[in-house]
Amino acid sequence: MIVDALIVGGGPAGLVAAVYLARFRRSVAVFDAGTARASLIPISHNCPGFPDGIAGPALLQRLRAQAQRYGATLFDTRIDHLERESDGTFTARTAADAITARRVVLATGVTDIEPELPNLRDAIHQGLVRHCPICDGFEVIGKRVAVLGEGSKGVDEAHFIRHFTEQLTLFSVGSRDITEEERRGLAERGIQLVEAKITDVQREGQAIVGLRTDDGALHRFQTLYSSLGSVAHCTLAHEVGVACAASGMIPTDAHQRTSVEGVYACGDIVHDALNQIAVAYGHAAIAATSIHNSL
Ligand SMILES: Cc1cc2nc3c(=O)[nH]c(=O)nc-3n(C[C@H](O)[C@H](O)[C@H](O)COP(=O)(O)OP(=O)(O)OC[C@H]3O[C@@H](n4cnc5c(N)ncnc54)[C@H](O)[C@@H]3O)c2cc1C
Repeated sequence: MIVDALIVGGGPAGLVAAVYLARFRRSVAVFDAGTARASLIPISHNCPGFPDGIAGPALLQRLRAQAQRYGATLFDTRIDHLERESDGTFTARTAADAITARRVVLATGVTDIEPELPNLRDAIHQGLVRHCPICDGFEVIGKRVAVLGEGSKGVDEAHFIRHFTEQLTLFSVGSRDITEEERRGLAERGIQLVEAKITDVQREGQAIVGLRTDDGALHRFQTLYSSLGSVAHCTLAHEVGVACAASGMIPTDAHQRTSVEGVYACGDIVHDALNQIAVAYGHAAIAATSIHNSL
């Protein structure tokens, strides 16, 4: 198969790029491994155009239908390898097949590093464990909230969430220290800092309601923000020679072009971008238009 554009990743970034490119009358194939962060969203209240909110899976379904309506072909298949040929085209390989493309969009996203908690997926679906206060800080206004984070990143996340609630505890995990200045800053804003080791997760039925620490204390909360960072899906970028940041994220120019001609990046995988659906949409619109013009 030869296509104008191969899109790796069928989350919001990849699917919106597909909508635009298909409407530019380009042949488009989207390959998706089925692990979109977007699929974990119980309900998003900041996704533009949905005043009553929309669940991640429903949003993906709409975007898939929109891409298909204009002729994009979607495959629920992982791309295992990607290489650039001497004529400037790209060959992508799945377990069973190969596809040739004139341009490639990497919309492969990231995976959150999760705490070891029982029934984690259920807890995410119930909004008990959250990952993104930019997305849903509004939903925890005035609630008892815990943040699980490491070193300064955990401290920053706690300060961000403090805007929404006064009842806030930061559980500092991992090996990175918190400085004296950071401790003072937390104390000044009434953020409780817990450095004791977490020994148990308190549940009521299916719900996580607290964390017990090795000093015997039980810390109860209504929502837990996990702020342990993420892992970039950058294997294909490396294979094809795209320059990545140390984190694995992909720097792009203002047209979403990477360091390799013909390869673009959109969405959470982009270096120094805000991990938001609205941003993924914007990247996708820009990349697709740039690709169309380049073809
Ligand atoms: C619990 C939770 C709640 C959130 N709530 C909100 C919210 O309310 N509002 C908001 O704006 N944002 C929210 N976000 C963030 C939002 O989900 C992301 O910013 C958005 O999904 C990024 O889109 P993306 O397409 O870049 O990546 P993803 O949605 O992660 O999609 C990437 C896709 O690429 C696929 N892929 C990776 N490698 C390959 C490969 N080699 N071959 C084929 N496919 C591959 C993956 O399987 C995945 O399906 C939330 C995130 C989480 C985890």
